[in-house]
Amino acid sequence: MPILRNAARLVVALLLGCGLAAACRAADDAGAKSAPPPPGEVRWWKGNLHTHTFWSDGDDFPEMVADWYRERGYHFLALSDHNVLARGVRWVPEADLLKRGGPAVVTRCVERFGGAWVERQGTGDAAEVRLKPLDEFRALVEERGRFLLIPAEEISDTAEGVPLHICATNIAEPIQPLGGATIVEAINANLRAVHDQAEKAGREILAHLNHPNFHYAITPHDLAHAVIERHFEVFNGHPRVNQQGDARRPGVDRLWDIANTIRLVDLAAPPLFGLATDDSHDYHGPPEDSRPGRGWVMVRAAYLTPEHIVRAIKRGDFYASTGVELRDVGYDADRKVLRVAVNPVAGATYTVQFIGTLAGVDTRGTPLEPAADPATDAKERGRHRHRYSERIGEVLATVEGVDAEYRLTGRELYVRAVVTSSLPPADPVWDGQKQQAWTQPVGWLVPAAAPTP
Ligand SMILES: [Zn+2]
Ligand SMILES: [Zn+2]
Repeated sequence: MPILRNAARLVVALLLGCGLAAACRAADDAGAKSAPPPPGEVRWWKGNLHTHTFWSDGDDFPEMVADWYRERGYHFLALSDHNVLARGVRWVPEADLLKRGGPAVVTRCVERFGGAWVERQGTGDAAEVRLKPLDEFRALVEERGRFLLIPAEEISDTAEGVPLHICATNIAEPIQPLGGATIVEAINANLRAVHDQAEKAGREILAHLNHPNFHYAITPHDLAHAVIERHFEVFNGHPRVNQQGDARRPGVDRLWDIANTIRLVDLAAPPLFGLATDDSHDYHGPPEDSRPGRGWVMVRAAYLTPEHIVRAIKRGDFYASTGVELRDVGYDADRKVLRVAVNPVAGATYTVQFIGTLAGVDTRGTPLEPAADPATDAKERGRHRHRYSERIGEVLATVEGVDAEYRLTGRELYVRAVVTSSLPPADPVWDGQKQQAWTQPVGWLVPAAAPTP
């Protein structure tokens, strides 16, 4: 089905409430030493929405993890442990913590926050340390207009024999994974549970799908057809999530284009927005571990509160980054122009690619050849896996420099921008990785009655 350009009720995809002309202050002036920004001023806020701690399989105390991000200029952080919220009384064997976090992990917390902060009971093999709930430690690290902690959970499910993880940000009650006969059913079931909680609690909750290529679990077909899912990770800093794909299966960037094209052409559904996150577990490990500081979002909002941050991400007023900082990004729907302005750093050059799919493309593709490896073949059997047209997610224009714009011709189903720096990230995940920023798809049209949970 072609895109419904002639349907009676069309809405233009709207992005970017701040607009081109608005003066959005850059993020780099918000270090811990400067005065907090005046309330109500629209600006960029930096945050990570996917983080692990001792509450599940991370290797440090939650307050130490929060402190790590705060000290590095992040403005918000969601601690998203697996299937749990940090609350209630939890004593854990000290030996387990030392095994996971190293022999100095408790000492470091005592040095940072003082001996009276860390609670211990028992001695010898029976020694235990108390994990603090969010409501106890947040007062130690939060500050108005500077640093905000948002309660979150990584709902960690399986379906069709593969993992399915969804982060729910600003959640009030834990959600146990609901499963389903297929990946799409399981995504929908968990998203409905998030939606129901948000309705009941009268609360803004963001759900975003994690690392689709972890175990190559979420196929392009799945990502497209779970149409009530609106957000996913275009970048996840964990080294074992197959970010770049392989010879048979697309990298996550291309997975995004395939899913968005199928949605717009075949399903009359809006495209996904892309986040970057750390998925950090290992705060003291080697580069091949999932370390913090590799992927984040920059969100444009007037207040550093959970509601304002979540609402801005829901409407697409943010970009994903592994190092490139944007001064501005905006879509002028009247002129049909997407404009990107980079905040450059000394010694770097920048390439801006405008990526999109033109109308008339074939969205069916051809069935993917079976994997040579029998174990992979067995896992993939019965799943909808196709190889898709190279015309999906084409580079429509390339600009070298820090200011770039793309004027839509009317043939694009959507356009998005990717900015790539000549410099590597501070802590690269793979050899040859460059700092990047991803903006959200714009210029798309869908029926006003878009699918909802
Ligand atoms: Zn996960
Ligand atoms: Zn995770």
